[in-house]
Amino acid sequence: MQKRKVGVIDLVTKAPTRSMWARIMFPNFASIMPQVVSSWCEQDGHDVNLVVYTGFEDLADELPTGTDVIFITAFSHAAQLAYALSALLRSKGAVTVLGGPHARAYPEDAVKYFDYVLGFTDQEIIRSVLSDCSQHRPIGQHLAAAQQPQSLPGVRERWKFIKQTLDKAPLVKAVPMLGSLGCPYTCSFCVDSAVPYQPLEFDVLRDDLRFLRTKFKRPVISWHDPNFGVRFDDYLGLIEEAGPPGSMAFVAESSLSLLPEERLKRLRRAGFKAMLPGVESWFDLGDKSKTGSQVGMNKVRQVADHMNLIMRYIPYVQTNFVLGLDADEGPEPFECTKAFVDSAPAAYPAYCQLSAFGQAAPLNLEHQRAGRILPFPFHFLNTQSAMNVRPKNYNWVQFYRHMIDLTRHTFSPRALANRVRASGTLTVAGLNFLRGATAQGRGRAAYYSELCDRLETDRQFRAFFEQETNEVPRFFLDRMKNELGDLYEWLPRGAIHHDPNAYLASHQAGPPPIAVTPQPALA
Ligand code: SF4
Repeated sequence: MQKRKVGVIDLVTKAPTRSMWARIMFPNFASIMPQVVSSWCEQDGHDVNLVVYTGFEDLADELPTGTDVIFITAFSHAAQLAYALSALLRSKGAVTVLGGPHARAYPEDAVKYFDYVLGFTDQEIIRSVLSDCSQHRPIGQHLAAAQQPQSLPGVRERWKFIKQTLDKAPLVKAVPMLGSLGCPYTCSFCVDSAVPYQPLEFDVLRDDLRFLRTKFKRPVISWHDPNFGVRFDDYLGLIEEAGPPGSMAFVAESSLSLLPEERLKRLRRAGFKAMLPGVESWFDLGDKSKTGSQVGMNKVRQVADHMNLIMRYIPYVQTNFVLGLDADEGPEPFECTKAFVDSAPAAYPAYCQLSAFGQAAPLNLEHQRAGRILPFPFHFLNTQSAMNVRPKNYNWVQFYRHMIDLTRHTFSPRALANRVRASGTLTVAGLNFLRGATAQGRGRAAYYSELCDRLETDRQFRAFFEQETNEVPRFFLDRMKNELGDLYEWLPRGAIHHDPNAYLASHQAGPPPIAVTPQPALA
C-alpha cells in the first residue's frame, strides 16, 4: 500500500476554554480510539501526526499540514467543530474521515461533510480507507465492521501517543485503558447496551500494567470500560498479578450491583481511588443498583447507605443520574435526589438530562416514533446544555424549575461545605470543591435559569421547545457562533441543522449503512 501522511485529531472538547477544571482534567479525558488508529497506521508504515484538542490549543496552529488523510474523532457536542475542521482541511486537499460516537450516532448527517464516516472500526476498515484514500463528495462513504475488534493495541503500543497527551496534564496523569467493550445490561437509553459485552485480552492488559510501572513511580490508570468489573475476579486477578497492592491507582465506572463490600475491600487493596457508579433513576433500573423493586425514598436510603459504604473504601465517588426519564413524574424524583445529596454528602452527583443521540441507543427509535426529538444543533448535545427529548411528564418550565432547584441545592455553600468536609482526602476535597464551585456545578443553575426565563418570556424560544417550529432560537446560534470563533466561517451551509428523525427514516427504509465493509474480527 502507498505510504500516506496521516493526521488524527481527537476533539476532547468543542470550544476554547480557560477553566481550571478543564486545564487539570481534559488531557485525562482523551479517547483511546484516536491512539489506536494512530498505532494501526504506524504499524502499516504510514507517517502519523496526532493532535489532541483540549480547548487550550490554537487549533489553527496545531492542524496537521500536508497530510493525505485526516481522521477526526468527536462526540456529538463537537460535531459542528468537526464539520468546520473537515471543510477547512478539505480546502487544503486532505481527505477527511469521521469516527467516534458522533459518526456512530449520526452517520447519515456526517456523510455530507466527510469523505468517510466510520461505524465499528477495526484495522481492516482503516486499511481500506488508506488504500482507497479518495474524495467522496458530496456524499461520503459509510464504512463499518460487523462488530467491535477482538483486540486493540495496548498501552505499550500506544505509549508514544499516550505520553504526548499526558504531557499536557499539569497534575493528574491518568493513562486510559480498556479492559472490555459493551455491557451485558440493557439500559435502553445507553449507547453501550447495544454493544455485546466482550473482554479484551488479559495477557495484554497485564503486560500493559507492568509496562506502566516502568514509566511512573505509581501509575494512575483510568479504565474506559462502560461497566468495569462485570468479570470482577478475572480483572482484579490480573491487576494483582501485575504489581503489589498499592503500586498503581485506578479509576473505573461500574454498576452499584457489582460493588458489594467484599469486592470493595479487594478494590481498595488493589488501589482503586475513584468509582463512578450509575444510579440513573429513583423510579426505574432497579437491577442496576441492586435495589430491585424499591423506588423513591426507599431506594434513596438504600443507595445512600451503599454509597457511604463505598466511600469507606474508595475515596472519590461520582454518582450519575439521568433526569427527565419517562418513569419520572412530579417533584418526587428531584426531591429524592436532593435527599440523596444530603444523605451521601461526599458522593459527587453528576446530572444528565435525558438525551437521544441519533441511532446510538435502542430507545431513541421509540422517541423518534413518538415525535419527541428536538433538532437542537449537535453543539448542545452534551446531556447538560440541552435536552433533546421532550419530557413525557413535565412541561419545559416545570422541568427546568426542578433542575434549577436541584442544582442550587446540590451546589449550595452548605452542600459544598458538607461535601468538602465529608471528603476523605485533601485531593478529593479539592476536586469536589473545584467541580462544584465552577461552571461544572453552580454555573449550571444560572444557565438553566436563563433557559427558564426565556421559555417564559420569548415566544420564538418557547415555540422551538414546543416543536411548533424547527427554527433554532438565536440564543443557541449566537452561543455556538461565539464558541466556534473563526472556525464558524468554515461551517458548511446547512451544517447547523440535522434531521432529528433520521434514524427512524433509515429504519423504515430497511437496512443498512450506506456502504458496509464487513470484515472478520481482527486476529
Ligand atoms: S449498566 Fe451502564 S454501561 Fe451498562 S447498559 Fe446500563 S448504563 Fe450502559
